[in-house]
Amino acid sequence: MINLDDLVALVRNYNPKTDEDLLRRAWDYGEAMHEGQLRHSGEPYFTHPVAVAALLTEMQLDDATIVTALLHDTIEDTKSTYAEVSRLFGAEIAELVDGVTKLTNLQLSSSEAKQAENIRKLLIAMSRDLRVILVKLADRLHNMRTIRSMRLDKQAQKARETMDIYAPLAGRMGMQWMREELEDLAFRVLNPEARNSILRRFITLQREAGDVLHSISSDMRHELDRAGIEAVVFGRAKKPYSIWRKMQDKELSFSRLSDIYGFRIITDSVPECYAVLGVMHQRWRAVPGRFKDYISQPKSNGYRSIHTTVSGRDGKRVEIQIRTREMHEVAEAGVAAHWAYRDGVRSENPFAVDPAKWIATLTEGLDSAEDHDAFLEHVKLEMYSDQVFCFTPKGDVIQLPRGATPLDFAFAIHTRIGSSCVSAKVDGLRVPLWTRLRNGQSVEIITAEGQRPQASWIDIVATGRAKAAIRRSLRDEDRERFMRLGTELLRVAFANAGREFSNKAVATAAKLMGVQDPQELRARVGSAELSARRVVAALYPDSPNQVPEVDAARPVLGLGGDQSFRRAACCQPLPGERIIGITYRGKGVVAHAIDCDVLAELESQPDRWVDLRWQDGTHPAVYGVTLELTISNDAGVLGRVCSLIGTHKANISDLRFMDRKPDFYRLLLELELRGVAHLHEVITALEAETAIAQVSRHRDPSLRP
Ligand code: MN
Repeated sequence: MINLDDLVALVRNYNPKTDEDLLRRAWDYGEAMHEGQLRHSGEPYFTHPVAVAALLTEMQLDDATIVTALLHDTIEDTKSTYAEVSRLFGAEIAELVDGVTKLTNLQLSSSEAKQAENIRKLLIAMSRDLRVILVKLADRLHNMRTIRSMRLDKQAQKARETMDIYAPLAGRMGMQWMREELEDLAFRVLNPEARNSILRRFITLQREAGDVLHSISSDMRHELDRAGIEAVVFGRAKKPYSIWRKMQDKELSFSRLSDIYGFRIITDSVPECYAVLGVMHQRWRAVPGRFKDYISQPKSNGYRSIHTTVSGRDGKRVEIQIRTREMHEVAEAGVAAHWAYRDGVRSENPFAVDPAKWIATLTEGLDSAEDHDAFLEHVKLEMYSDQVFCFTPKGDVIQLPRGATPLDFAFAIHTRIGSSCVSAKVDGLRVPLWTRLRNGQSVEIITAEGQRPQASWIDIVATGRAKAAIRRSLRDEDRERFMRLGTELLRVAFANAGREFSNKAVATAAKLMGVQDPQELRARVGSAELSARRVVAALYPDSPNQVPEVDAARPVLGLGGDQSFRRAACCQPLPGERIIGITYRGKGVVAHAIDCDVLAELESQPDRWVDLRWQDGTHPAVYGVTLELTISNDAGVLGRVCSLIGTHKANISDLRFMDRKPDFYRLLLELELRGVAHLHEVITALEAETAIAQVSRHRDPSLRP
């Protein structure tokens, strides 16, 4: 273990303005707190925080971070408290130590691939400060380096977690070296056979080919000397894990040198980079398709370098990266991290702000040694502040908007669970259903058979998905009540129109309006989906009691003031049909029919669900619907179909023939209609035509927005 003076010297090396007294006090305090505690290896416990602090000096971090490393296990494992750390070392350090403690206490039991990304987001969301993650990663790195002294089952668990969560997180933070080391340490535990076989193959290849690293490097150096270019050549063997993963991905056997070794040539200037490239391509044959110029076209994360692969006379391929010293330093420090092309997530960078940029700010600030406080302001993590991440009892992470409650959580898991929710436990304690969830909490939903969504829940939940599900359910449950109410409304409307109200009149109106049964018609009137006056108007079209038409630009209720509205082309919902709104970026809200197959694909994005319903009243005949018709091939039938549709006041906007047989043909007919009642009216009329064998509504999921 290094001693206190060593640590101070390490920090002073890059930070001459370090607060030596602070470091000494933190050392003494940490040592005193961990007094008598031992690691699994039998060493004094304090060797661990010291090793973590030393790791962080390699990243040239500020005093607060180094002190946090020294104290990172005190609040968790000793009689020390947040208040005491805050009193002795200030609020900033107490916050940081507390942040690391919170991450340590997370039970990351599930690390399936689809959950791993959520857990990484959760770690970032809980950290609020980049330095918390850096300390946590260094902590994990030291624990992985010393994992051999742990129990075997613990080793496997930690290694899995490291592979799934922490190594990719290090990659996202731009620390490629740390990612590689974490992966390799985890690989050693998880799959020692695979690792050993790669190492053995490695040794065999080396025996066959000789000291390839050295001979290729010196060949390159020789060529550069001849061309009079000053440049440094580095060769390195790739880590067993990255070789193994490449073999898994591409099912390669590893025989090519380019699978094992990588070479870097570092120059002083950009023109020299291209000069080096010229020399390499002149001397060795460039492998087609392997040349990438990230200097003229930097990656979106700022990474700059020239990549090429050449093959020598013996056909052995060698990968070369060419960059300036500046570019190299930046890449090593994590600013231009390798993560973008190594994880294959380049286009899906989940960070609103590039985390690498923060590291850039961090190191720049230290280089100029100007004002540490000022730059630390920029490393606060804000990116997931509008979201919370909570655990299911099985350890799956559920992502919710801030302000979400256990009910939102329940509906996010499954509508059935949400609907039958009676109470909830958060971190093991019973809480009211309106409790706002916080990051990292584990939530258990208690359900009971017979429970149904309550009307009051609408005001409790924060997600559109939960709201829509509750409304749907309430609507079903209230059907009975709506039917009674509808009957009353109809009675009044009939009386107002001077007509006699009867069950028969309702049944006739239902048939005319294409509603499946009279009870349904009553329910729709009662729930205000259909106005009683329209029912009367359908029975007695001449009556002067006409309703003004609904504006087709905003024909629904439930839109936000600034949201535009469209109908989904895949399911073509009509006024009178139940709909669900889905928000699309830049396209406003798109209404889908409630039974549209496309909705299933959107289950996992509850934030995008909006509860919509059609405006009450008469809609203009502008809503396009596609019908599929099978028609017998007799002369004049198409003309009859067209005039039939005309008499029902619908427009034909398009007509396409599908396939023609000698006696039958199919066609797609695009109509403009007022709504679902109008549709049924038209279909009923078409079905009555003997030349028409079949009429059905045509939906095309490929037209999804
Ligand atoms: Mn630790």
